[in-house]
Amino acid sequence: MSTNIIELKKDTEGKNKDKIYCSFCPSKMLNAGAARLINMDFALPYIHSKAEDKANQSETISAYWLIEDMYTFENIGVSHTVGNVKYLACADCERGPVGWHDLSTKKSYVASCRVKYE
Ligand SMILES: [Zn+2]
Repeated sequence: MSTNIIELKKDTEGKNKDKIYCSFCPSKMLNAGAARLINMDFALPYIHSKAEDKANQSETISAYWLIEDMYTFENIGVSHTVGNVKYLACADCERGPVGWHDLSTKKSYVASCRVKYE
């Protein structure tokens, strides 16, 4: 039986050692060293599946990759905006949200459990 625990590889500064990709397609989101792992609780809506509407449901995720500057992303898309929060999605397959962007601080956060690593 496999577990869902992903070993997050980070360097001594807490930055990602692996490149970060969309979990559903080969789209690369971030290069190694582009983000820093932080612990914070944020309720992120479930990834949309067109068959069922889970838009109003969310789960609390507590490990995020912090990206200080939006231009650090190799590829990223945005879905909808709610208040000061813009949800991030894959630029290619548009699945998401994989994280969120704070419009007041300009910082972006990618949920460590919603992306894959290579
Ligand atoms: Zn994708």
